Amino acid sequence: MISLHVTWPEAGKPAVDAVSRNGEKSCRLIKNKEKTMKANVTYWLDETAARFPDKTAYADENKEITFSKLRAQSRAIACELTARGLFKKPVAVFLEKGVDVLVSFMGAAYSCNFYSPIDVDMPGSRVNKILEVLEPAVVITTGALREVFSAYDYKGDFLLLEDVVTEDAAAAEPAREAALEAARKRGIDTDLLYVLFTSGSTGVPKGVTINHRAVIDYIDWVTETFAITEKDSFGNQAPFYFDNSILDIYSTLKTGATTYIIPKTLFAQPVPLLEYLKEKKINTIFWVPSALIVVAKLKAFKNVDLSDTLRRVLFCGEVMPNKQLNVWRKFLPDVQYANLYGPTEITDACTYYIVDREFSDEEPLPIGFPMPNTDILVLNEKNEPVTGEEPGELCVRGTSLSMGYYKNPEKTREAFVQNPLNQAVPELIYRTGDVVKYNERGEIIYLSRKDFQIKHMGHRIELGEIETAVSSLPEISLNCCLYDEKRQKIVLFIEEELDKAYINEKISHLVPEYMLPNKVVRVEKMPMNANGKIDRVKLKEYIK
Ligand code: AMP
Repeated sequence: MISLHVTWPEAGKPAVDAVSRNGEKSCRLIKNKEKTMKANVTYWLDETAARFPDKTAYADENKEITFSKLRAQSRAIACELTARGLFKKPVAVFLEKGVDVLVSFMGAAYSCNFYSPIDVDMPGSRVNKILEVLEPAVVITTGALREVFSAYDYKGDFLLLEDVVTEDAAAAEPAREAALEAARKRGIDTDLLYVLFTSGSTGVPKGVTINHRAVIDYIDWVTETFAITEKDSFGNQAPFYFDNSILDIYSTLKTGATTYIIPKTLFAQPVPLLEYLKEKKINTIFWVPSALIVVAKLKAFKNVDLSDTLRRVLFCGEVMPNKQLNVWRKFLPDVQYANLYGPTEITDACTYYIVDREFSDEEPLPIGFPMPNTDILVLNEKNEPVTGEEPGELCVRGTSLSMGYYKNPEKTREAFVQNPLNQAVPELIYRTGDVVKYNERGEIIYLSRKDFQIKHMGHRIELGEIETAVSSLPEISLNCCLYDEKRQKIVLFIEEELDKAYINEKISHLVPEYMLPNKVVRVEKMPMNANGKIDRVKLKEYIK
């Protein structure tokens, strides 16, 4: 029998761990650094700020922040949150995308509260739905944006950045710092780190909750697998309300790399975008396939040679067609390419495939294999593991699993269920709704969705959320939304004679711009199936 004893060191002293095996004891001194068990992601920032105080952590168009300043500024926020008595409470962050958002995230994390970004471009009614669920204890924002926020249904407290954070923030008074440290020590690794809201089929966004342990487990994998160090620099594309951003933010925090927040407008201009990557010497990008596809289609590589700078191209969030990946591979053959797959509910990704062979344009790119410490179950209709190349639903279990949807037990129960292969003890798996199969090499291949969730230009959308918005129009009786995969268009079917511009204008305060229908089709009478539901199969024929 093996028993493991771990003695936690006093601060500043080396730890001794004693391993007894069959009565034989062996002791070894280990360095404090290795020994620090992380219960909070901000311990990474403490370590990295000590190692690389003056190195740039994050940079946006207007501001760069070093690790020591990031630490000082986020601790200033954290001290204030702790002084206000907030612990394990939701903190909404309402700021333009940039360095200050990350300072605010870390402020929430240091103080053992959890953050939830609210996109400043999101329609007001959707913000209100999120606020109703989240009930933030405080909103971190600026004086100017507070005015915008006052239009929403929120009567709670604000923390204005300019009141709390100064450019040269130093340590707070000892009593405040001590209170903060006491709060951080009280926290445990299963406490929430963030809540990201995703589209919900009933029109109410679902708040995916993720704890510190999940991010630590995921980022340990990312940084080891791709050998990320302080020499690396990321070019961030993902909005901070989208979970792909977790990879950039936290790999940087852990290793001392640098993340450049790429201006959003550049994603519509492939040549300046690649020039930006070259100028900043960005060597790692983790983008949604839609962003990579735009670059491939316009063959921007002909104008900008990235062969000396770019080393890793990682992607996740939707299908990456080999047709476009092959363009990237042709121009940049020495880059490492990897297809990561996963929903927000498993902390960004749970399978991966490092591209290691040639593919024809028509072949699907595998989503590969489970990440370590993560188990994938592909279950058929009878909840049995599939055999051979039989398709089934991808279900996942692991440390990085979300703790459920915030204050939504019903949706949580639907998606996070008892592992049907384990009758012995409670164990949750997440049913992704993604249909996959194994190929002859044992790699997982993504096939389709089981439901009405789509990915459109990298955005996760429940078609039901658009339908709910459209049905709020008094003129509309029945409506149905489908996705035209081939043309990448959201198609809305209605019975009334209303045009697209009118409908989109009317629903633009309910759903984000990326959810507005791209095409409206009028049908004489909505086809119905035997169950009295709208016959989506029949409607699909219109978009063949
Ligand atoms: P999100 O929660 O926004 O990350 O969206 C998760 C969904 O995006 C998954 O359930 C899949 O349907 C889709 N998805 C994510 N990564 C991939 C991938 N590499 N290939 C195909 N679909 C993907």
